[in-house]
Amino acid sequence: MKIYDFLIIGAGSAGCNSAAYLQKRGLKVAIADKEGVASGGSGAAGAFLSPLAGVENSYNLFINRALEYSLDFYETMFQDEIVKSGVLRVANENFDTAKLQTNSIKNRYISTKELKEISQNFAQIDGYFYENAAILNPHEVCRELIKECDFYKLHVEELRYEDGFYLFDDFMAKDVILAQGVIKPIVSTPYIKIAPIFGVKIDVKTTTKVPFNIHKSISVSTNKNDSTISIGATKERHDTSQIECLTSCDKCAFYTNSEQGQVEELLMEASELIKLEDLEVTKIYRGARATIKSYFPVIGKVIDYEESLKKYPSIKNGTKIMPELLTYFPNLYIINALGSRGFVVAPLLAKLLCEEILDSKKIPQELSSEKLFYKMARAKNQIVI
Ligand SMILES: Cc1cc2nc3c(=O)[nH]c(=O)nc-3n(C[C@H](O)[C@H](O)[C@H](O)COP(=O)(O)OP(=O)(O)OC[C@H]3O[C@@H](n4cnc5c(N)ncnc54)[C@H](O)[C@@H]3O)c2cc1C
Repeated sequence: MKIYDFLIIGAGSAGCNSAAYLQKRGLKVAIADKEGVASGGSGAAGAFLSPLAGVENSYNLFINRALEYSLDFYETMFQDEIVKSGVLRVANENFDTAKLQTNSIKNRYISTKELKEISQNFAQIDGYFYENAAILNPHEVCRELIKECDFYKLHVEELRYEDGFYLFDDFMAKDVILAQGVIKPIVSTPYIKIAPIFGVKIDVKTTTKVPFNIHKSISVSTNKNDSTISIGATKERHDTSQIECLTSCDKCAFYTNSEQGQVEELLMEASELIKLEDLEVTKIYRGARATIKSYFPVIGKVIDYEESLKKYPSIKNGTKIMPELLTYFPNLYIINALGSRGFVVAPLLAKLLCEEILDSKKIPQELSSEKLFYKMARAKNQIVI
């Protein structure tokens, strides 16, 4: 029976980055996914790396710090899988011109006239250009990240912990990291309320040269190394209270809705940004990303919600109980809710999580599982499912 230091469950951006970090630190790492590498949200991702505009706040500070870190990381590790040519941000209903103008990140306004001089194919748009933006090949990046780890195509349905090890059919691991995306977690974590948001990405052949990524309500990429471009958007939020979330599910309206209709909508919105000539759709991807209300991702030890409240019922009334006193599942960690910028945030999150596990470094409060635990425990009239 093989013995690993870590098993990571989920081979998306979160799991693969965690596996790579641990493996580089000299640990023996296995990674399991029921569908394959980058088969969930990560496989459907446009994998745009772009800044978050707007007046500075704690969330965009975190995203923009993570972007600096990940651009450096991917450029060093995966030169062949990244195209860094900047992004043109066009105002939309969430980011109107006023918001884009009061911006904490360095950018340059480009008028319609100037855009037309760059390419006649631009529609009547203007926008703000950010240099620090790129697009990745998500499948290759995930595969490369875990090339030194053992991969198991395996649906992990339960965790069995005995004598300091998690036991599986033909291997065991001392520690486990859950990186499951929108899929129902294998241990109860009611305080992490994941909402899946569904989206579509298409790869397109075109003779048009797209000079940089363009982002409005959808994203159109620059030409990648194989000269194709990607067009993608995530928009449909679903309530999972009545269904168990699977990445492709015949109970889910998103997947039963016409794929053709979703592709046509993307192409229509793309044409409002730039005219793509001799266009041919070569591949369609659909998937869901995991988001929670606070928008911040969550990393850390997995708290046993019921046991912790049984031990300290007064937490519900606001009594301060130190995180160290809560009950945790043994050697079990989570990295999830990466939101719309999963490839931007994953390298930094993996580092922060693994530094907590290996070096006892404290996780920033806004990212911690404890923050969500206390929030739910103290909420009035809570319903635990
Ligand atoms: C259409 C679309 C476009 C996007 N565009 C961008 C973008 O441009 N830039 C960006 O940075 N981000 C983008 N995102 C978001 C990004 O893709 C996600 O935030 C990120 O991929 C989440 O990674 P993850 O590893 O947490 O989850 P996932 O990639 O979903 O991985 C979770 C994996 O866990 C596996 N799994 C779950 N449970 C089990 C189990 N019990 N046993 C075995 N395996 C299990 C699943 O099979 C899945 O492969 C986009 C997302 C979508 C859907």
